Amino acid sequence: MTQLSGRDRQRLQARCCPFCSLPLIEGPTGGRSQNFYCSNRVDCLNGFNLTFYNGELIFQQHIGTISDAQFRRWDKDRKWVKQ
Ligand SMILES: [Zn+2]
Repeated sequence: MTQLSGRDRQRLQARCCPFCSLPLIEGPTGGRSQNFYCSNRVDCLNGFNLTFYNGELIFQQHIGTISDAQFRRWDKDRKWVKQ
């Protein structure tokens, strides 16, 4: 698990990837938390488990890299960033 800086938290709060700044797409939700996947499928591939409460990010966890198959299942708006 990666420790995130304050700036990283701000990016996640805005639903952007802390590593590459591109938008995150919404993945599966479980309870109060939801997985978010980075739309940069070229050189990032990261995913995060985030919990928002009243619009504020209260928990974040880096969940590692997301496979193409897993990403595509949730990329309903076709936000996949191509080269
Ligand atoms: Zn990214």
